[in-house]
Amino acid sequence: MKNRRIKLAVIGATGSVGSAVLDVCRAFPDSFEVVFLAAHSAVNKMINIAQDFHPEAVVLTNPHAASLFKGKGCSIPVFSGDEALYTMATHPHVDHVVFASSGTAAIKALQGALKEGKEVSLANKESIVVGGPWVMPLVKRDSQLRPLDSEHNAIWQCLRGEMEREVSKIYLTASGGPFRTFTHKELESVTPSMAIAHPVWSMGHKLSIDSATLMNKGIELIEAMFLFRLQSKQVDAVISPGSVVHGVVQFIDGSMKMLASTPDMRLSAASALGYPERLRAMSFVPELSLKELAINFYPPNEKLFPCLALAKEAARRLGPYPALLIGADEGAIEAFVKNKITFTQIPLVIEKAMALYNGGTPTSLDECIEISQWAQHSVQEITGGK
Ligand code: NDP
Ligand code: MG
Repeated sequence: MKNRRIKLAVIGATGSVGSAVLDVCRAFPDSFEVVFLAAHSAVNKMINIAQDFHPEAVVLTNPHAASLFKGKGCSIPVFSGDEALYTMATHPHVDHVVFASSGTAAIKALQGALKEGKEVSLANKESIVVGGPWVMPLVKRDSQLRPLDSEHNAIWQCLRGEMEREVSKIYLTASGGPFRTFTHKELESVTPSMAIAHPVWSMGHKLSIDSATLMNKGIELIEAMFLFRLQSKQVDAVISPGSVVHGVVQFIDGSMKMLASTPDMRLSAASALGYPERLRAMSFVPELSLKELAINFYPPNEKLFPCLALAKEAARRLGPYPALLIGADEGAIEAFVKNKITFTQIPLVIEKAMALYNGGTPTSLDECIEISQWAQHSVQEITGGK
């Protein structure tokens, strides 16, 4: 690694991906220095992490949480509000910003970090799917923006040394979620707690449910289109139970490259943070044994999991549709978690809200964010209020 430690700001530090990133920082203290940490409202978790890393300052975007943090006697300065995320992401003391928060709150901070020429590791899918056309043009150099999402990170690794114009298609793998073998009847009685327990990955609740409906894979197809500048017909999803192969690139000569690793977000994080070098294997991540490697691929069942079909439709249509999809899905998951709708009603309410949209194509990032919020409120109305 370089002699000077890379100075990191980690947004979403208290979450599942944030924890994976911080584990990598703990494993390589000579390579990385965490100078800023941000989250929304998890005061106690933030205090524990801050005491571990001693950052210059922390951000809790929720003002009440920020004042609770101050009241707990921790001497590290704390700031609140989404503007504080922007200040942190563009701060001169920062080399590299990790976006591991959920939702769209950090989207302007992402723009700011790219404009300032910071290196960026991006897990947050919502920002790129809602604001792709306003984010991607800000990328100034190759590998300034490094995907953390495991499938996109795999594609990014497969594309090292390759030419963009020689890619014919990419495939993102999905485990198929916990209900891959269910019938429609069985899906009707899936409860939120069943949907939250993912067989392979440990993730935030929203993402676990998105994985169970296959909406996550659909959102990831749009994410991949923006990140790798591909058309909708060049991206597809494939089921690979076990989640050992994360992504496949097919080139114009018919060759394929795929990336296999133990399913562990710390590996994606290490590859993005360490680039262009590779960090030594972390002893706490189990090694992948070739002897145990049995790889199978299946097409996903879009009839049983219509969220994937809805996302593919949004990918084909672009314009307001990716933002509508993100907002409507957010609203549908909220309603499902509150037992207002069943698991099989999730795609139905998303489709209904998207069909109600009669506005035009957005011409700014703010409009995209508004469209996404509109879709979320629209689902809230369809499902009987917040
Ligand atoms: P979690 O729910 O575990 O964590 C979300 C994090 O974002 C928390 O630190 C939370 O803070 C923070 N956060 C939420 N809202 C705000 C806000 N307004 N301002 C600042 N911080 C905020 O989610 P995950 O870690 O699972 O996912 C995070 C993102 O990464 C999502 O976009 C997800 O799609 C993506 N992703 C996740 C993967 C995974 O394996 N988990 C894999 C690939 C991508 P607090 O704790 O205070 O609420
Ligand atoms: Mg993923």
